[in-house]
Order: sequence, then C-alpha cells, then structure tokens
Amino acid sequence: MEKRIITTEFMEEDSKIENSLRPQLLENYIGQEKICRTLKVYIEAAKSRGESLDHVLLYGPPGLGKTTLAGIIANEMGVHMKITSGPAIERPGEIAAILNNLQPGDVLFIDEIHRLDRQVEEVLYSAMEDYAIDIVIGKGASARSIRLDLPRFTLVGATTRVGMLTAPLRDRCGVIQRLEFYSPDELSVIVNHSAEILGVEIDSQGAMEIARRSRGTPRLANRLLKRVRDFAQVLYDGKITKEVADDTLNLLDVDQWGLDAMDRNVLFTLIEKFGGGPVGLETLAASLGEDVGTLEDVCEPYLIQNGWLNRTPRGRVVTDVVYERLGIPLPMKE
Ligand code: ADP
Repeated sequence: MEKRIITTEFMEEDSKIENSLRPQLLENYIGQEKICRTLKVYIEAAKSRGESLDHVLLYGPPGLGKTTLAGIIANEMGVHMKITSGPAIERPGEIAAILNNLQPGDVLFIDEIHRLDRQVEEVLYSAMEDYAIDIVIGKGASARSIRLDLPRFTLVGATTRVGMLTAPLRDRCGVIQRLEFYSPDELSVIVNHSAEILGVEIDSQGAMEIARRSRGTPRLANRLLKRVRDFAQVLYDGKITKEVADDTLNLLDVDQWGLDAMDRNVLFTLIEKFGGGPVGLETLAASLGEDVGTLEDVCEPYLIQNGWLNRTPRGRVVTDVVYERLGIPLPMKE
C-alpha cells in the first residue's frame, strides 16, 4: 500500500523531529485532562510513599501520545525509561535480561504489548506481581529452577488493540487509561508550540487550519506542520497563514475534514458498491484491496469518532452526514 501522508502510524520522517517536540512534563502535555489528573495523583502518592508507580496500561489509536506519556511518567518519577515493544522480545530469556538490568523504580515501556509472545508474557506475570522471576538453569536431569529477585519497576504498556490483550496482563495493571482524539483547539496549541520549537512563524488561523485537518492526532499535526513549513519557505515568505496551510494541505489531498483519498475511497466504496452498508469489515477491505488491520486501526477509529461511519452488529454503515458533507443525494429508504 502507498504510504498516506495522513497515516497516524509512525513514519520514518517523524523520527527526526518527534523527540524534540515531545513534552517532558505533565504540565506541558496538552489535552487528555482526565488521564493527566489521574496520573498526577498516582505519581504524587507513589513519590510521597517512596514507592514505584503501579503498572499502567495506555490504549488508543496511534499517534495520540502514549509513548510521550510513558516518558513523562518516568521524568515525573525521576527514573529512567527503557523502551521496547511486544514483537521485539522474542524469548523469555530476553525479557528476563531486560528486567534484570532495570534500576529500582525504572519505567519499562512496552509498545504494542498485545503482540507479546505467550511465554514472554508469562515471565512478565510474576515479574509484575512479585517482582521476581523463576529461571531454569541447565538442561535435562540437571536442570533446576532458581528465583531471581528484581528491582521494583513500573511497566507501562501501550496498545492500539485493548481487546487483544489477555486478562492476566490487564488484571496486573493498576492504572488503565484510554487516550481520546484531540479537539482542534487542543491541536492548535500543540501546532503553535511545535512551530516555536521549529523556529517557524505561524498565525493563529494557520495553526487552526492545520489542527482541523489533523484528524485529532498530534503526530499528524506535527507532520503536516513540517510539510506546510516547507511550502511556506519555498513558495511564500516563510510565515504560515491560513492561505499557506490551505494551499499545502489541498495539494497534499488532505481535505477540510482531515480525510484523505483513502478515507474518501472507503466512504464512496461503501456508498457505491454496498448501498451505504451494512457490510462486513473483511468484505469492505477486500473490495478496497486493503489490509483489515489497517482499516480497523488507522482508518476507522477517526471515521467513527467523527460521525462518518457506524459499527453495527451487521457491519459498517455510512451515516446520513456523509451524504450531506460529500454532497451526494440520500438514497430512498424503503
Ligand atoms: P503514540 O505512542 O500514541 O503512537 P507518541 O507518544 O509517539 O504517540 O506521540 C506522537 C507525537 O505527538 C509526539 O512526538 C509528540 O510530539 C506529539 N504529542 C503526542 N501527544 C502530545 C500532547 N498531549 N501534547 C503535545 N504533543 C503531543
């Protein structure tokens, strides 16, 4: 599949700027107020007792700030963070080594935690619960198991698919929080702040235009800002205004609602081939030549959140709003 500019998944081009734009402390983290308030209490309580923070599970679509929040937790607790991901840990021995190298109180961030290998996950259970693991030394008749005590640590797990997580893992997380899409106002604060760090001039309408088209996702807002900056520098006088943002984003085929060609393709296919639905996800994906996972994780959440699409027991259905917004006559209802 061709990479979409508005994919909310991590792209190579993000790596250069993401770290410099990441807020380091809770007070600089925009939005997600409920999560921030809750975490602030837990962090202060743990700190005042001199304990490590309870294990945390963060879930929600890509690019909403899960990794950023894990880093903030580590900073606020004054500890280090070790970053890894579910598919990266292939054997129980690897997770044992990672855990054994942590310092007391450290944060272990595991991205895509729903993709952990089962045996690796089992090692984590006792590590999370008892701060100890049993390791087997030797082979055959001489094999014996020894218990290895671990430093107290905080696991921060992140996933886009909370439904795929096993119950024992979920049960061992004391703090479970869902990240929400950001409002255009919140995103425009992020855009303004990022513009300041990048040293590019931007006015409030320019920031709002980028925010409105960023499908509720900070990662995307920052990526679009970078693209608009290039256009502002080459084709205009360097300053980002509404006009510059409009022109660039239209050229990049990101429309006024933050939809790109793929989103529109999903909606038009549903309308033209399936009479607006309901249609099963697999059938829809096959007819678009798309991968079911991409459709479900990246495309759908925003379309559902914004009232374009409904998920029903019989399949996906476009809402009446779609006809109105895209200027298509409503089909006659029987
Ligand atoms: P996730 O782990 O959920 O995929 P990240 O934490 O990597 O998302 O966030 C992507 C980028 O978006 C970060 O580099 C950061 O610059 C920005 N970002 C995310 N959340 C916020 C926020 N609440 N305030 C400011 N910037 C944010």
